[in-house]
Amino acid sequence: MSTTRIDNLIANTIRADVRAGHIYNVPDSSGYIKLDAMENPYQLPDDLRAELAQRLADAVLNRYPQPSYTGIKERIRARLGVPAGYNVILGNGSDEIISILCTATARQDERAVVLAPIPAFVMFQRSAQFAGMDFVGVPLKSDFSLDRAAMLAAIAEHKPSLVFLAYPNNPTGNLYDEADMIAIVEALGENGIAVADEAYHPFARTSFMDKLPRYPNLVVMRTLSKLGLAGIRLGYLAAAPALLEQFDKVRPPYNINVLTQVAAEFALDHVDVLDEQAARLNDERTRLAAALAALPGVTVFPSSANFITLRVPDAEKTCAKLFEERVLIKNLSRMHELLANCIRVTVSTPEENAVFLNALKASLQA
Ligand code: PMP
Repeated sequence: MSTTRIDNLIANTIRADVRAGHIYNVPDSSGYIKLDAMENPYQLPDDLRAELAQRLADAVLNRYPQPSYTGIKERIRARLGVPAGYNVILGNGSDEIISILCTATARQDERAVVLAPIPAFVMFQRSAQFAGMDFVGVPLKSDFSLDRAAMLAAIAEHKPSLVFLAYPNNPTGNLYDEADMIAIVEALGENGIAVADEAYHPFARTSFMDKLPRYPNLVVMRTLSKLGLAGIRLGYLAAAPALLEQFDKVRPPYNINVLTQVAAEFALDHVDVLDEQAARLNDERTRLAAALAALPGVTVFPSSANFITLRVPDAEKTCAKLFEERVLIKNLSRMHELLANCIRVTVSTPEENAVFLNALKASLQA
């Protein structure tokens, strides 16, 4: 087909907002120290990997997975603090769960709204848009805490069906005040669902999970990605059973593949190993944050996650220098005005953190 005919085809078929949009950008990282995606730098220990290899070899690849996924769900319920009587649904990463939540709440009879404090994880806005919903972002205060009054006013005005609250927040790293979160859940009441996105729970170790029985409109979303399993793509959502059933209706039936199923069940049987890695990364975060705070012109923001957000004199220059030294981090400057000259770095091994720190120091001197 000629280029013009393809262009016409696209104009006649693809939604205008999709045509105007961008592919989610993931830079090629080969040959770089990758500190831009909050991954765990540690693999499973060799003996466990050998055992996992055997289990994966035995996986039944010629059949569809059993879509009830009881093996993974039982382990999540038993080991990850899901309240009695509550269950989970699984997603291909929590990315897919965000999309499922939007699909299920994008009511057709009126314009449905997703609301979140901003700056926030970008998939909240993207998934809302793809589901045909409006996105309302309510700026955080300059210390990155929730602006409770502005959130409550926006909820009263826009009547969102979904409010995403990342706890801790990405890209700022902080935990919101619990009383502010509860005020939002209560304000939504029977008219809106509050999603506590606890992607960084392995590091923050604090949760809204135990509040589920008290607030039927609160749901808790987590992921195994930050726990050292980003490659297998597994997220989960805990909610009141009747609500969970609605979300399950829009989930593609075989969304978790057999290899992920086997690897997740195995990893959850050894979750203590992953928790120990997270504890090591928390110690490293404390060390790295202190070293960064000692640098002239650098402001370090408090983090309860496996990354640190900091303000430098010239983020553009710092990122260019780090790139030259083959270290990938995230420049947050253009994301929101509250993040002017801010960068975000994933906490990694002592060796990789040292390379980052030295390259950062060099960028400040140059
Ligand atoms: N929520 C937050 C706050 C995140 O930062 C991320 C990933 N960076 C996700 C959800 C998505 O995680 P995944 O799809 O890997 O489960």
